[in-house]
Amino acid sequence: MTVKVNGCVIVDILPCDRLATCPGHPLPSSISGRDSPDSPVTPKGKNGAVCIPIFLPLTVLFLIGLSRSPEASVLQWPPSLPSYNQLLDPLAPVLLLGWIALHILLYHLPLGKVSEGLVLRDGTRLKYPINGFHGLCVSAALLILLMWLGAPLGYLFELLLPLAACAIAVSFLLSIYLYIRSFWAPSHALALGGNTGNPLYDFFIGRELNPRIGNFDLKYFCELRPGLIGWVVINFGMLMKEVELRGSPSLAMILVNSFQLLYVADALWNEEAVLTTMDIVHDGFGFMLVFGDLAWVPFTYGLQAAFLVVHPQTVTWLKAVFILLLNGMGYYIFRKSNSQKNQFRRDPTHPSVAGLETIATATGKRLLVSGWWGFVRHPNYLGDLLMALAWSLPCGFSHLLPFFYVIYFTVLLVHREARDERQCKAKYGLAWDAYCHRVPYRIFPYIY
Ligand code: NDP
Repeated sequence: MTVKVNGCVIVDILPCDRLATCPGHPLPSSISGRDSPDSPVTPKGKNGAVCIPIFLPLTVLFLIGLSRSPEASVLQWPPSLPSYNQLLDPLAPVLLLGWIALHILLYHLPLGKVSEGLVLRDGTRLKYPINGFHGLCVSAALLILLMWLGAPLGYLFELLLPLAACAIAVSFLLSIYLYIRSFWAPSHALALGGNTGNPLYDFFIGRELNPRIGNFDLKYFCELRPGLIGWVVINFGMLMKEVELRGSPSLAMILVNSFQLLYVADALWNEEAVLTTMDIVHDGFGFMLVFGDLAWVPFTYGLQAAFLVVHPQTVTWLKAVFILLLNGMGYYIFRKSNSQKNQFRRDPTHPSVAGLETIATATGKRLLVSGWWGFVRHPNYLGDLLMALAWSLPCGFSHLLPFFYVIYFTVLLVHREARDERQCKAKYGLAWDAYCHRVPYRIFPYIY
């Protein structure tokens, strides 16, 4: 899930060039070493495009398998993968396809407003329904109804591996469909960067920019809905499994569920922000994005809840208060800094940002040097990382696995920050140097 620029969640699976989805995702350039659209694919990029579609799905299955093993040791070698039988359950494809169908239906309901995306190369603008938050609310209502009817929601725990296997299969099938249909798309509808002529690379990165079936935008749909909402539904299933096993949910499980629900709800509440992200504006829709949205985010971002089912943890009230404060602080920094920059970029004369100190750049755009963006150069990353840490702490320190997300995310954001710095330096030149001089720390004040 990497959307962004504004406050949504992003799905960067790998530190890449662009994955900024406001909600988020995996990008190719870093894999490819490609610097400009449609430049020849380097051997590094070719290898990445071949290996990653194999390596990342195996990683998802490996991590889920680990989270439910008693040892949960990421250091075990050779790493064990689930057996074929563990991946099969006829209910899984029914549930997964039903879930996707439900959200396709909700996408089409006339709820919420309709917004226009940025201007495309042919001068037109696409329309997008802003109703992802409604989709979350309807999903929550359905879950409550199912609970009331006595549905065994805890069975999601047993279904986790089969569901992940189905999500991976759907990612491959959808990516193949996207690749094939892209050959019928007009040239202005293709993504700059996904048309190198190397089939594996283009399949991986995505050829078509905004593939649509009628008004149904496949990329926009996948960015924030089935995977992101699916993530919190899976979390809730883990909570219900705990209730089945132990009679009530643990404080640790409640904290993890609440924090991640807040993150997802925030992304959907700010769904419109995804329309200006690299994912939507720049990246083709290929395997990397499809897999990130449908398999990586729902099945790896929620590992803590799956871990807690098998490895119950005691969280004292004092520790819970500390973790709550940490998550609250992270969320506050994340939301305030993203909103401040978005507001400034949309309307620098708005009263909430008009008083902030800025420096001029040769492009005509100004850079904030006070407020959140005068604190560190990426305050939004700082907030995001504080939250990521708060999601792991309820799982205790006995295992490394629950810290997978915060470790992976730190690497991703440090890499992403360096990439953004390079781009800003190229864009703003001396003005960027002045900003760096004025605000010396990148993400962590006095550390980095
Ligand atoms: P940012 O929101 O950090 O945007 C970076 C851009 O902001 C720069 O390229 C520049 O663009 C502008 N900018 C930088 N400094 C200033 C300044 N001082 N004043 C004004 N504008 C400035 O981009 P991201 O997409 O990386 O992050 C958005 C959010 O998404 C973050 O909160 C991040 O944590 C989150 N995220 C989440 C992921 C996940 O998987 N959960 C993955 C990746 C990101 P310009 O000047 O052209 O406007």
